[in-house]
Amino acid sequence: MSAETGLGAAKRIVVKIGSALLADDDGAIHHPWLSDLAADIAAMRGSGSELMIVSSGAIAVGRRLLKLQRGPRNRALRLEESQAAAAAGQIRLAHAWQDVLAHHDVAVAQILLTLEDTESRRRYLNARGTLATLLKLGVVPVINENDTVATDEIRFGDNDRLAARVAQMTSADACVILTDVDGLYSADPATDGAARHLGQVTEITPEIEAMAGAPRSADGSGGMVTKIAAARIAVAAGCRLIIADGRARRPLAALHAGARCTTFMPAANPLTARKRWIAGSLNPVGELGVDAGAVQALGQGRSLLPAGVVSVSGNFQRGDLVLVRGPDGTAVGRGLSAYSAADAGLIRGHKSSEIQRLLGYRGREEMIHRDDLVLR
Ligand code: GLU
Repeated sequence: MSAETGLGAAKRIVVKIGSALLADDDGAIHHPWLSDLAADIAAMRGSGSELMIVSSGAIAVGRRLLKLQRGPRNRALRLEESQAAAAAGQIRLAHAWQDVLAHHDVAVAQILLTLEDTESRRRYLNARGTLATLLKLGVVPVINENDTVATDEIRFGDNDRLAARVAQMTSADACVILTDVDGLYSADPATDGAARHLGQVTEITPEIEAMAGAPRSADGSGGMVTKIAAARIAVAAGCRLIIADGRARRPLAALHAGARCTTFMPAANPLTARKRWIAGSLNPVGELGVDAGAVQALGQGRSLLPAGVVSVSGNFQRGDLVLVRGPDGTAVGRGLSAYSAADAGLIRGHKSSEIQRLLGYRGREEMIHRDDLVLR
């Protein structure tokens, strides 16, 4: 096995399966492939790992069931059509998983999550508790986005980030994204003969992000961009993320045998649980523009003080997640604001000793305390 993936040593693993692997162009489930994958999953469990599956495909399968295939296959569905398709397809998908894993005496449990479930800390902790209980009971959770209730603004929209979020939530050691390409390339291998395959990524630099290009997979909504966003979430949580080709039969066995893939290495100093949650959250509700001095101080691990804040936008309350932008507009981090947008607007640019005079109460000295702040 390739030591690089670290898969053999991983105790808790999330495996994400893209729609295009699970179902054909017509939305028919690839049963033989799925049964083989179930054998892989059973084998990994047999060698002592806990497995979770994030399975796409509800919409692809449901489309067929509801005869929403009119015209070219990838005619974009309207939101309510894709939600209806997801509702019909999810049952079929869950049954398919149940059937193939039952052959190996493995019980499955369905978990449908929305972005809101992972953004609200209470719901996040609840979902985490349920997943932990299922794993303890030896059950394989089969997870998907709750597409029927998620509206555009509050969707993950892709299961890559959902899988990374689940990995983070459950403190998994590895998150394997099975897709239709064997990893990350320096350019699109389909159009550029000089494209180089990357076996290992130790840091997600802007160059790495630039390699992702535009989404290109025909099915699903991911592409490389969301896979890299997923890698960012996973590695910050101390979890390695592996992008691998899932098209062949028994793709996980192939990975064990050293098949080519890209491994994003986990951060050496994983964030605390609280910071992981901040780093993985997707929906900041406001922004704080800060000056160059503040950017430097943040880089040295200090808190964000009101004095370094030059602008406040959005409508946020105390404790809400906000994005921090430097003078050139680049996002430097995100964190939980100790002040509401209104109060932040009043104290921005001022010394902390002036807070009481400006607001009439004595709040925290920091706009965002360093424990509540994650740099990107
Ligand atoms: N949740 C969607 C489905 O099950 C898939 C999202 C994705 O393509 O990643 O159909």
